[in-house]
Amino acid sequence: MKRPSERSLKILIALLSVAVILLSIITFLAKNGFSIKNILPNSIASEFSMKPIEPPPAVIIDAGHGGWEPGAINGSIQEKDITLAIALQVEKILKEKNISYLMIRNDDTFVSLEDRIKIANEKACKLFVSIHNNSFSDPSQRGVLTTYNPYSETGEDIARIMQSQIGDLCERNRDLMPRPNLYVLRYTNMPSILLEIGFISNKEDSKLLTTASFQKKCANQIVLGIEDILAKYFPDELKSSEEH
Ligand SMILES: [Zn+2]
Repeated sequence: MKRPSERSLKILIALLSVAVILLSIITFLAKNGFSIKNILPNSIASEFSMKPIEPPPAVIIDAGHGGWEPGAINGSIQEKDITLAIALQVEKILKEKNISYLMIRNDDTFVSLEDRIKIANEKACKLFVSIHNNSFSDPSQRGVLTTYNPYSETGEDIARIMQSQIGDLCERNRDLMPRPNLYVLRYTNMPSILLEIGFISNKEDSKLLTTASFQKKCANQIVLGIEDILAKYFPDELKSSEEH
């Protein structure tokens, strides 16, 4: 093997020194909060922008229906407005309790079922809670039930935990219902439940559901259910909220 000449060794040492100096400068700048974004034109800087990695939210709140899709209707009462009103109250309480969350919608917009799943799965939240109201051809039917995916390992248990907090909100506790083909329950990667709070088709239930104080009461119970589920399955989510 040919021995490297003295000249090429000198070049190699010089290059290594430059690399060490550059590395030291970069480390120094990074330690002092200097971002590469500040020295690059905007168009290039955006390529380098590194957002801090956010931890997945503890719970995702899915207000059923929205926009052009009203859900169940009884006269001027539309399910999409009630699910949103309750969801917004839930959001308020979660914020107060420092439980991390994500809202599928917080206004009257349409979000497809596929997008709801995509958002939940991409964010890898721990628990998916979908808020709906029931409706039936027999207007005497009323009450609250929690639906779950029977093929999910934890589905029935988390449904039971939630139902024990929300079951008595309206006159009749309708307990649990397995719904293997319900889209949002079937395709979410995390434990998920869908709450049917009262019947829009029932006079007494729909009157309650349109009352702000009742919506708040529902939200309170839903959050208690969420806390119970997190305490059992994801206790760290509550620990971090206590630290703040
Ligand atoms: Zn619905």
